[in-house]
Amino acid sequence: MNQPTLMVANWKMHKTVDQSRAYVRELLRRRQGETIPSITEVICPTVVALWGVARILAESEVAVGAQNVDVGREGAHTGAVSPYLLHEAGAHYAIVGHSERRQLYGEDDELVAAKAVECVNAQLIPVVCVGESREEREAGATDGVIARQVSAVMSVWPDGASADVVFAYEPIWAIGTGLVADAAEAGRVARLIRDTVHASQPQRQDSVRVLYGGSVTRENIAQFAQESLLSGALVGGASLDVGHWMDLIRVWKEVRS
Ligand code: PEP
Repeated sequence: MNQPTLMVANWKMHKTVDQSRAYVRELLRRRQGETIPSITEVICPTVVALWGVARILAESEVAVGAQNVDVGREGAHTGAVSPYLLHEAGAHYAIVGHSERRQLYGEDDELVAAKAVECVNAQLIPVVCVGESREEREAGATDGVIARQVSAVMSVWPDGASADVVFAYEPIWAIGTGLVADAAEAGRVARLIRDTVHASQPQRQDSVRVLYGGSVTRENIAQFAQESLLSGALVGGASLDVGHWMDLIRVWKEVRS
């Protein structure tokens, strides 16, 4: 399985607008003369910084993503940001269903699925996060949770949509904790995700990409790059430093080349 790699930087609620712009300027400066074929980098800044970051990256190969979207095109939804607006602001990707959104903001499978569909309609590629909690893993419920979360999205995925299907397997117990999943286990879950997509939409199975997320660093990313069923990583903390971010990309590239 050799699908194009997707590396997604999730900055969460970090960095001011100025810091965000300075980061991507520095990223472009350091990338000069460096070709990174078949790896798409996606930077997901805060929504306030997204437009400024997108303008700086507009002529580059680095893409911009949103960390969240709301459902709907427009309307009386105070504080909401539609995927259509995010696309207009320069985003091409959006993280959907991050466990922090599910846990802190009560997003359920149905809402996450609706957000994914709204992204597709708005020409954003949704990166749909799925993953089990520590309690669910210990109870042997991992596969059931993942299959349920993936099915909820694929059961409403628009028939004719050509958008890529991207899931990020993010075990909740590994996010921001320094604990990482075993790469072989991440590969096993990636297989389960693909099989679940196949059961719902067989024609899409070959274009599904599964990323791993959860305490990825330059020290541990090689093991995930070695796992052929994974097509990249979703990185939080380790993406905040531009040097560390570039090292993650380099290691992935070295392992896969
Ligand atoms: C995340 O933001 O989805 C994430 C995986 O964070 P971290 O890399 O810090 O664990």
